[in-house]
Amino acid sequence: MNYETSCFCGEVRFTVTGTPEAQGYCHCASCRTWSAGPVNAFTLWKPESLEVTKGASSIGTFNKTPGSSRKWCTKCGGHLFTDHPGFGLVDIYAAMLPSLRFEPGVHVHYQETVLPIKDGKPKFKDMPAEMGGSGATLPE
Ligand SMILES: [Zn+2]
Ligand SMILES: [Zn+2]
Repeated sequence: MNYETSCFCGEVRFTVTGTPEAQGYCHCASCRTWSAGPVNAFTLWKPESLEVTKGASSIGTFNKTPGSSRKWCTKCGGHLFTDHPGFGLVDIYAAMLPSLRFEPGVHVHYQETVLPIKDGKPKFKDMPAEMGGSGATLPE
């Protein structure tokens, strides 16, 4: 599958190909203050799935931590995706892929939630063990 999208103003365009490695919601405070939303709906892909087709020179990067290179359009401020080089994955915000059927499987950093979501999906206190977290889960 092939998903085309662009930033808020259209300066930056990119295509995502294939299927995501994982999908879910991040409830961490960093995602919250970055996105200005109560949760961040993420889809994780292998970096080679992502191709910037227009406006690459208008992509800004901010690192609060080495593990997350957060990308946005320097013309409109619209958010694009976050590189997670330590995981070998790129988080393309689910809202940026309107043609992708979003199927969240997991919640991460649920101990920081300000918007509990009762959907029956696993709620990791921080992160799954295979991604360097405690693997502990919390009730909804
Ligand atoms: Zn833009
Ligand atoms: Zn987060």
